[in-house]
Amino acid sequence: MPSMTTSKVSRWDQHGREHTVRVTKSGVQRALACETCDWRRSAQFLPWLKAEEHLAEAHQATVDPATP
Ligand SMILES: [Zn+2]
Repeated sequence: MPSMTTSKVSRWDQHGREHTVRVTKSGVQRALACETCDWRRSAQFLPWLKAEEHLAEAHQATVDPATP
């Protein structure tokens, strides 16, 4: 069962590889952790936006698998 305090942002790159940033609630902060590289970041606001920015800039992963 998924935890209510953890979620993730997944994007695909142009080669069809999936890159995922996990978002973990830590007090008032959200801790972001990329599963592809060792990128770590904390964010108080809009953690999913920060995750998307990292995926786009570091991995050129901009394709949202949830978007038809
Ligand atoms: Zn990364």
